[in-house]
Amino acid sequence: MPSIQCPPGIRVLERGWLSSNNVVLIGRGSSALVDSGYVTHSEQTLALVYRALDGRPLDLLVNTHLHSDHCGANAALQARYASLLTHIPPGEAEAVRQWDEDRLSYRPTGQECPRFGFDSTLAPGSVLELGGASWQIHAAPGHDPHAVVLFEPASRTLISGDALWERGFGVVFPEMWGEPSFDEVGSTLDLIESLGPVRVIPGHGPVFDQVDAALASARERLDAFVRSPEKHARHAIKVLIKFKLLDAKRMSREDFDTWLQSVYYLEQVSQRFAPEQNREAWTFELLSELIKSNAIREEGGFILDSP
Ligand SMILES: [Zn+2]
Repeated sequence: MPSIQCPPGIRVLERGWLSSNNVVLIGRGSSALVDSGYVTHSEQTLALVYRALDGRPLDLLVNTHLHSDHCGANAALQARYASLLTHIPPGEAEAVRQWDEDRLSYRPTGQECPRFGFDSTLAPGSVLELGGASWQIHAAPGHDPHAVVLFEPASRTLISGDALWERGFGVVFPEMWGEPSFDEVGSTLDLIESLGPVRVIPGHGPVFDQVDAALASARERLDAFVRSPEKHARHAIKVLIKFKLLDAKRMSREDFDTWLQSVYYLEQVSQRFAPEQNREAWTFELLSELIKSNAIREEGGFILDSP
């Protein structure tokens, strides 16, 4: 399938599921990057961004939200580009200032993110110059209560983070700690529809232009989760497990179990959705399902990622 054209000056570095996509925006006098990927890919991110900038410095780094797969190379980029300015969504400014790894979700998800700083926040309702174009900042709660999306009305291009993918959207994390957020996911999809983008640069997966189809599939998925929050919770934990194995590739059963013990969300979710079952039994069930669907493998005392 041919890839979707982006307006001049925008280069999408499509990554995978461990690292988010990185969007490089180059204007006459300035350059910007939206989202930086996961920490273990930092070197690769630096190399890809360096190549995309073609000898220019990087002036501005923006994060759609602060999940570890979107800002894991912030620190490395800040170290590489001395005059880099970093803008983050306002809702987590205080947590970043204090580097509160619980509020920033790194500890409860069992993920990692090196400490970084920021210079300014992305106020929803305001406009930001990125690579010579004016991008609107919109609040996009749901997947993350503090997330923003960026919209450039002249080319009708949307940078959606994890609020909308070609098929679906990111796990609705606040639901895991008992904060009802499916309504916010729906409102954010309505907002995206009202903006009328002709192309979407998602946080994961290729750029797409079948926006109506993507919205329909996201709404269908959302309806299924609303009907069965337990289904969403099980999906969420499977996503965390798969993410861990995308990173580690191979773990001894012992290390894997130790990691599982450290994932606070798992404890919360199993208590809420399967209170009658003990946590080990519930997790074992999810693992068996992941193995059955070939998402992961178990071999000779090791848990492995499946390609
Ligand atoms: Zn995310």
